[in-house]
Amino acid sequence: MRIAVLSDIHGNLVALEEVLDALQPYDAVWQLGDIVGYGPQPDEVVARLASEKALGVRGNHDAAALGELDLDAFNDDARTAVEWTASRILPATRAWLAGLPQRREEGQFTLVHGSPRDPTWEYIFSLGIARLNFAAYSTRYCLVGHTHVPLVVRLDRARLEPMLPDDGDTLVLDDRRAIINPGSVGQPRDGDPRASAMVVDTEQNVVEWRRVEYSIGDVQSQMRDARLPPRLIARLQAGL
Ligand code: ZN
Repeated sequence: MRIAVLSDIHGNLVALEEVLDALQPYDAVWQLGDIVGYGPQPDEVVARLASEKALGVRGNHDAAALGELDLDAFNDDARTAVEWTASRILPATRAWLAGLPQRREEGQFTLVHGSPRDPTWEYIFSLGIARLNFAAYSTRYCLVGHTHVPLVVRLDRARLEPMLPDDGDTLVLDDRRAIINPGSVGQPRDGDPRASAMVVDTEQNVVEWRRVEYSIGDVQSQMRDARLPPRLIARLQAGL
């Protein structure tokens, strides 16, 4: 089975459509949360994922848009975007988001947004944090998002091996445990503004990362029309 793994789409339908095109052919779509927030098309993104029968989990922005998180935990721009999203999304979007768990297991994979220790908030940015999280899930692999940066941390006996995957890079899935991040579809933050995602092939046992160009200008003009914060509009171009 070929699975398109997406995270942090953040209401960016233009990027999502390009990524789904680029990752063809696939048999399933998994998503790792933060479907909404920041971007201008939350309803359309949720409808598209629903049409793909995407399996996945909720992120902090999804929970906040449902009114389930204290907005004081967000910075000003993020909070403005959450409030805009919450005030706008359709009941069907709300219901679909509300049905997402914080964590799910699919075969050898655990899916969470932030980390298995703290699916809502923890960022796996460092080897120290990664090490603590290997004890917090029981499958072989853990798929995470939240940082908007593609990353692998593999556990080789007691040693941690990090890898920062770029476009076309692959990881062979063997019996070593690994925490794996596809990067962000809708708002990459590693300095490369192209959308980031990956395909997991469970027959070949390989993961491949892909970077996909999309029309950033189209999304920015929609964000301007929606009066979303200027800093959020500018950062798409920088990929930061
Ligand atoms: Zn996010």
